[in-house]
Amino acid sequence: MRVHAYAAPAAAEPLAPTVVERRAVGPNDVLIEIKYAGICHSDIHTVNGDWGPQPYPLVPGHEIVGVVAEVGPAVTRHRVGDRVGVGCMVNSCGRCANCRAGDEQYCLEGMVPTYAGTDRDGTITQGGYSTHVVVDAGFVLSVPEGLDLAAAAPLLCAGITTYSPLRHWGAGPGKKVAVVGLGGLGHMAVKIAHAMGAEVTVLSQSLKKQEDGLRLGADHYYATGDPDTFERLAGRFDLIVNTVSARIDVDAYLGLLAVDGTLVNVGAPAEPLSLNVFSLISARRSYAGSMIGGIAETQEMLDFCAEHRLGADIELISADRINEAYERVLASDVRYRFVIDTATLG
Ligand SMILES: [Zn+2]
Ligand SMILES: [Zn+2]
Repeated sequence: MRVHAYAAPAAAEPLAPTVVERRAVGPNDVLIEIKYAGICHSDIHTVNGDWGPQPYPLVPGHEIVGVVAEVGPAVTRHRVGDRVGVGCMVNSCGRCANCRAGDEQYCLEGMVPTYAGTDRDGTITQGGYSTHVVVDAGFVLSVPEGLDLAAAAPLLCAGITTYSPLRHWGAGPGKKVAVVGLGGLGHMAVKIAHAMGAEVTVLSQSLKKQEDGLRLGADHYYATGDPDTFERLAGRFDLIVNTVSARIDVDAYLGLLAVDGTLVNVGAPAEPLSLNVFSLISARRSYAGSMIGGIAETQEMLDFCAEHRLGADIELISADRINEAYERVLASDVRYRFVIDTATLG
């Protein structure tokens, strides 16, 4: 099946309309008519080759929502017409300890990324900036009624990337949670942590987005550009979710944690970070990382967001504005996620 898409023809070249081949629907496959695809900062890093050489042409997009158009004969979880989503992975081995524990993202054989990955049939995966995609039913999520479809797209990456560590480290009533950075990931972290019942603080470079942060559910907002912030908030937080992939002063942030507190990175700077281990042992603190979430947990996140009426704050764009949107993401000029209307791809 040949379908319309937007692809990068080579590293760091502007994306352009193209046509890609989707595999025939196998027994366990779901054909999805894509309605919306979010633009994640990772799309831009991958397209630009920031994370190593990539296969081109490359169709990015791992925040996919749409409607089931066809299912294979063995598929029981999804039916034609269902609202569904696909996130950052489209397959894994299914047999290793991590897969069996529901942590497919940490598959010991390596999960198959939604784009620029090698699928289990040997083909290169192509992502969601496209009208259709064929995905193994086990990696297709249900998008509950009550979620706006376009605003749900970013939940498939930004939503689960922040939900998973918040859940894992027990964000909830009585817990003080800080979110570093108020971008695509950060704005979801604030909404979700607030809905979980935690006391939420945004730590942003400046107070420029303070009004937004409080509207999204934060209880407090501090500028990290103000050195007083680190003194005033010393020893305060149970959990800090760092959504910023730029270099940070790790020791300064660890100093904001209470005893047994955890600083968790969901993004990563290109170069190694250093830290003074005394920042950890002086209060039994942990420095951790977290990558998206498993399939069952992603479904749990979608159900949670539907129950709490949480979607992303989005700017809906037509496909011919993708390159302009990339420029604006790089300039942090988006509140808070671009979503492509895939009806404009054709
Ligand atoms: Zn992403
Ligand atoms: Zn596995």
